[in-house]
Amino acid sequence: MISTPSYAELASKNKKYLWHPFTQMKDYCENDPLIIERGEGVTLIDVNNKKYYDGFSSIWLNVHGHCVPELNQAITKQLELIAHSTLLGMANVPAIQLAEKLVEITPEGLTKVFYSDCGATGVEIALKMAFQYWQNKGISGKTRFITMNQAYHGDTIGAVSVGAIPLYHQVYKPLLFSPYTIPYPNTYREEKDGAALEETLQSLEKLLQEKSSEIAAIIVEPIVQGASGMIVMPEGCLKKIAELASAHQVLFIADEVATGFGRTGKMFACEHEEVTPDIMVIAKGITGGYLPLAATLATDEIYQGFYANYEEQKTFFHGHSYTGNPLGCAVALANLELFESKGLVDKVAADAKWLKQKWPAFLERKHVGDIRQKGLMIGIELVADKQKRTPYHWNDRIGVKVSQRCKELGLLTRPLGNVLVFMPPLSSTRDELTEMIQILYQAIVEVTEGREA
Ligand code: PMP
Repeated sequence: MISTPSYAELASKNKKYLWHPFTQMKDYCENDPLIIERGEGVTLIDVNNKKYYDGFSSIWLNVHGHCVPELNQAITKQLELIAHSTLLGMANVPAIQLAEKLVEITPEGLTKVFYSDCGATGVEIALKMAFQYWQNKGISGKTRFITMNQAYHGDTIGAVSVGAIPLYHQVYKPLLFSPYTIPYPNTYREEKDGAALEETLQSLEKLLQEKSSEIAAIIVEPIVQGASGMIVMPEGCLKKIAELASAHQVLFIADEVATGFGRTGKMFACEHEEVTPDIMVIAKGITGGYLPLAATLATDEIYQGFYANYEEQKTFFHGHSYTGNPLGCAVALANLELFESKGLVDKVAADAKWLKQKWPAFLERKHVGDIRQKGLMIGIELVADKQKRTPYHWNDRIGVKVSQRCKELGLLTRPLGNVLVFMPPLSSTRDELTEMIQILYQAIVEVTEGREA
């Protein structure tokens, strides 16, 4: 019989063998690691039996909580039929059924589904698809992209090329293709009301007027820019960007990897402004946070750009070994059934409204500068000087410190610099949400005000 390894043994092997993502390993190895053994509802339980709220939905993807009977069953049922077969030259049952469902629930006009495995691969596909679409049409000059300042679209080379967060992306510059970058409207940092939005739209319009003949597509995180600090666009911005792109024959790619599947209080963030992108990338919540799966959806017009006789060489030569994996598609279907049976999107919208009333108490604290929220996608920005909106210095590691205190108190979060991310599983009850934000509040007060006492 294999005995369960002790915490000490696991901790030592974790240090010896694992290299963790987005982690300075020297720091990490100096501390005792958190090692998760199981999940229960909206909590994670470590090998020492300590329970934590999953306050960032296991990196923004958990929907119905962990160990959900309906989702577990969907996987075991599919497992008894087949775990994997390829989509190269053949299809499988759940991949077909899910594609139909995705076309049904995404903005009207998106009619074709191209699967992959994670957000970044979905973005790579979107970029290559947009690029090749124009080549296939014989318009060979449209080879460049537009991205937004501080954008994040994943960690593969194409996705990093359209990324614009210096800390993550700068070092790879010599390896990358270079997009045009327009400002992202950050209203917390604007000089006067409306200035940020105006600057974004004017820059885009000018760029499109001058350069649209060389631009294939613009890629945008709709409504909320996530990794830059949960920055919510001013109303009307997304629609205007989409309209400008369309007016200048530039494709509009919506990266809904973080915002999709109910997170912002609509099934997809584009719905807030009734925008239909030419290409849309979805991942994360697609399987309820269970298995790696992504999809890039395209309009019929894009698809038709590739639909030709073989000799014309218009085929989209892209595909991954696990594309359309039946287990992932089966659990995604079960996830979508739960969305419907539980009326989850409406629940998120209602919870979001309720949660908004809690923030004034936070904003009274001297280092809470801004709280941005769309649905259950929330960023709390901590500042050194509230009056002047001065950020904490990077070396203060204020987000990390608050996060560490949250962990001791039983809530897992992962900060983005000075911004605390609060993205609980969408199924969290009001009691659970209340407990989570009580911990958040206590940790913020203790760390930011305690330090000065
Ligand atoms: N796009 C956006 C907007 C994201 O937030 C992320 C991940 N946080 C990605 C793409 C990349 O997704 P993945 O980590 O699944 O590759």
